[in-house]
Amino acid sequence: MAKRYWNEKIECMELSEMKALQSERLVRQVKHVWDNVPYYRKKMEEKGVTPDDVRSIDDLYKLPFLSKADLRDGYPYGLLAMPLSECVRIQSTSGTTGKRVVAFYTQNDVDMWEDCVARAITAAGGTKDDVCQVAYGYGLFTGGPGLNGGSHKVGCLTLPMSSGNTERQIQFMMDLGSTILCCTPSYAAYIGETLHEMGHTPDDIKLKAGIFGAEPWTEEMRHQIEESLGIKAYDIYGLTETSGPGVAFECEEQTGMHINEDNFIAEIIDPDTGEVLPEGSKGELVFTSITKEAFPLLRYRTRDICILSRKKCSCGRTLIKMCKPMGRSDDMLIIKGVNVFPSQIETVLLKDFNATPNYQIVVDRVGTTDTFEIKVELSGDMFSDTIKDVAALEKKLSADIVQILGIKAKITLVEPKSIPRSEGKAVRVIDRRKLV
Ligand code: ADP
Ligand code: ZN
Repeated sequence: MAKRYWNEKIECMELSEMKALQSERLVRQVKHVWDNVPYYRKKMEEKGVTPDDVRSIDDLYKLPFLSKADLRDGYPYGLLAMPLSECVRIQSTSGTTGKRVVAFYTQNDVDMWEDCVARAITAAGGTKDDVCQVAYGYGLFTGGPGLNGGSHKVGCLTLPMSSGNTERQIQFMMDLGSTILCCTPSYAAYIGETLHEMGHTPDDIKLKAGIFGAEPWTEEMRHQIEESLGIKAYDIYGLTETSGPGVAFECEEQTGMHINEDNFIAEIIDPDTGEVLPEGSKGELVFTSITKEAFPLLRYRTRDICILSRKKCSCGRTLIKMCKPMGRSDDMLIIKGVNVFPSQIETVLLKDFNATPNYQIVVDRVGTTDTFEIKVELSGDMFSDTIKDVAALEKKLSADIVQILGIKAKITLVEPKSIPRSEGKAVRVIDRRKLV
């Protein structure tokens, strides 16, 4: 296979060289923030740290953390480190978990971001000969603009579709010969479903790869999408606070995503104590952006639960890898005192039952007791099975959920097409307890 690097020097850099580069950039960044962001300077002073205390990445642990609450406190300009006249772009979080956060970019920041996305597209096999259909939402959400910019950089013929209008997506895909599809995994699943409903098969399209991210998805979901679209599906990770998608990306080995360490230093911490955990431990992912100018967050707590690994990768990249995030600490449901991640449920549903990737988790409280229901949409085939078969399926699902989670869920099998489809980030959980 041809080498798929966008920037081989960086992507395959010796660890010692990378650490030296990170140290130099970190020292410069800490000074930049100290000089230009009074909010963070105050946090450093409260912790008794000055820029003189940070001489290399080994001193990173001395710096205070930043969290989403800090960004909300500082909304909109509190964390800005450059004059607005030097900024060329604003993007915003999707607001999945509360009030939106706005992020600012200088032209250099946009270039760095697009460069990271170009690495992801190249790693997925993209070249200037590809037609790249971007079906992430455009606008304040970083998905559309991020992949659009990266696709231009690589020189792909870019189709800025945005999300929605699914039949038109497929029509354009066929008419214009799209070879790469970029969107959320839940939307990719929906596009696959629609392709088949329109009477087509993967042989009717030229897609070879998909670059999917912005929400958690399981390996089982990956297999389903790959099958329904006849492609190889690559993961991409990022968040608005650190620029957007492209902070980390999958290579052909597909055992985790390489982090663009020349721009982002990653740490794993214990979410309760803030203690830095050794490589291989599971904990909260924290990023320090060492090249961003306008919105340079230091030790930003993502709330994503993850594991880092420096295991040698067959692709030749030396960039550290993060596993698929197991969900955010704030996605985690506590039901009857038990920790439940929606991804655990997805694994059971898709693996054991080859169910459609359409499900919803409904949690409520009656008196002081939590109720826990999983609505699973039956595929057309399953729906026509006899009542006895359906009852057996319900029973098996129920038993498997107890085995994985340790608590019982009410399983409700629902008709095909009754669970709303997602064109962006899927809403899997309805937690009515929060409303009271
Ligand atoms: P919001 O926090 O409002 O959703 P963003 O659009 O910036 O705002 O989303 C970033 C978050 O999306 C990440 O912190 C992470 O939880 C999730 N995410 C992004 N990419 C992935 C991915 N490949 N796998 C799992 N989760 C992801
Ligand atoms: Zn690799």
